Amino acid sequence: MAAIQLYNTLSRQLEALRPPTGEPLGMYTCGLTVYDYGHIGNFRTFIAVDVLQRFLLSEGYQLNAVLNLTDIDDKIIERARTAGHGVGEHAAIYARAFEQDMELLGLRQPEHLVRATAHIEAMVAWCDRLIATGHAYISQGSVYFRVASFPAYGALSGKDAESLLVGARVESGLEQKEDARDFVLWKAHKPGEPSWPSPWGPGRPGWHIECSVMAMHYLGASFDLHAGGADLVFPHHENEIAQAEAVTGERFVRHWFHVEFLLVESEKMSKSLGNYYTVRDLIARGVKPSALRYLLASVPPRRSLNFTHEGLEQSAAAVERLTGFRDRLRRNGENQPPAGADRAVEWVRTARENFRAALADNLNTAAALGAVFEMVRAGNAALDAGEMTAQAARAALDFLAYFDGIFGVLGDEDEARLAAYALGTGLELSAPALDMAAIEARLAERAAARARRDYSRSDELRRELEQLGVVVEDVKGGEQKWRVKK
Ligand code: AMP
Ligand code: ZN
Repeated sequence: MAAIQLYNTLSRQLEALRPPTGEPLGMYTCGLTVYDYGHIGNFRTFIAVDVLQRFLLSEGYQLNAVLNLTDIDDKIIERARTAGHGVGEHAAIYARAFEQDMELLGLRQPEHLVRATAHIEAMVAWCDRLIATGHAYISQGSVYFRVASFPAYGALSGKDAESLLVGARVESGLEQKEDARDFVLWKAHKPGEPSWPSPWGPGRPGWHIECSVMAMHYLGASFDLHAGGADLVFPHHENEIAQAEAVTGERFVRHWFHVEFLLVESEKMSKSLGNYYTVRDLIARGVKPSALRYLLASVPPRRSLNFTHEGLEQSAAAVERLTGFRDRLRRNGENQPPAGADRAVEWVRTARENFRAALADNLNTAAALGAVFEMVRAGNAALDAGEMTAQAARAALDFLAYFDGIFGVLGDEDEARLAAYALGTGLELSAPALDMAAIEARLAERAAARARRDYSRSDELRRELEQLGVVVEDVKGGEQKWRVKK
């Protein structure tokens, strides 16, 4: 099989990911800063990473994935103050909320879900090494990285020394720095802020050093892949590279994977525009986790994703089309005569190859979904023509299971996950709207099954109706009554 090609922000081209070996692929993702609930933009990035990881697992890779939670930072301190929380308490509330959102959306548990405050000593030790090697200096109890000491600075973002200087002068205004481009590694303690001891006095780590140190702690000085949203290329990831490579002299990260931004109705998501959504906002309005996951996964990571309510409805419809096809295969596939077997299995094989090739081509999820729907069309046509063999139905069902192992959108766990989420978050979930077209079709089919005394089929339909939120009762005279399941 051809190697997986992924765009590498550092080389600005597609590059083959190293093949799977016994050695797990080391992968670090910049996670949430836990001052508030994660929004759907954050989850766009996390779902892209999740789809990539599940694809890699299906390709035989082993993973050593790290996801961090930034649990000490200016915004957390500020928000905790406004909310009347302790800083640690505030961060813990939103870290827990993040884990609930993660479970709801079926995000894979990384091998290491790590918090910055659990690694402060290692961060202090790394600052010490940077100072000892001349790459950092102490100024008024804070520690700064000396950008001039690292000539490769700017390679990731493509910024040259001149443009960096111009940008930095505008933004900084920090007189205690040697050079406007220098960035903070350790912030001297300010009254009312949490602090940890260090050789330079009490203080707290800067955001950039947190990620470098945690990444190297779990993955070593040089590892395979580093992910995050496109907003992190500069300065966060540029700084991560400098902090790590200045000390180790080794290439910090082989492959940089950046996910483009999510926009809402073509605008930047912001609270003031009223187009800002957390996962729980949407769930409380009756959006299913599978539909949200589908929408966020459906656009390839290198393209920005324009979130619209219409798109969300289309995603819900796409999920239903897939599950409807799967139900149809399960119901009818096994019962048809074995005609046209080879041809039918061929369309499954083609779909599988196209699906895999699309994902291996820089995680082109849109093309991969295209291959799945191509199969659904061919499969429905075969079912309509009575040409679906047991063998083809099995192959198609296998393919759907493989597909869903990567996309995780068939929604089998929606109900259970929503129930757990409601319990864990105390969120009031609005009753999901009934799909009346599907309900009526099944009621009619069930009446017909009972008329021909096909009770096993009628029981099967009763179960399907229950899944659609409806309980049926049989009353005298062969009539059926239905009511909404409580
Ligand atoms: P933050 O909590 O701001 O540190 O962000 C957590 C992760 O979400 C980072 O990887 C960000 O790059 C990513 N992110 C933030 N906003 C968006 C957005 N609108 N679209 C996609 N990714 C985002
Ligand atoms: Zn980071």
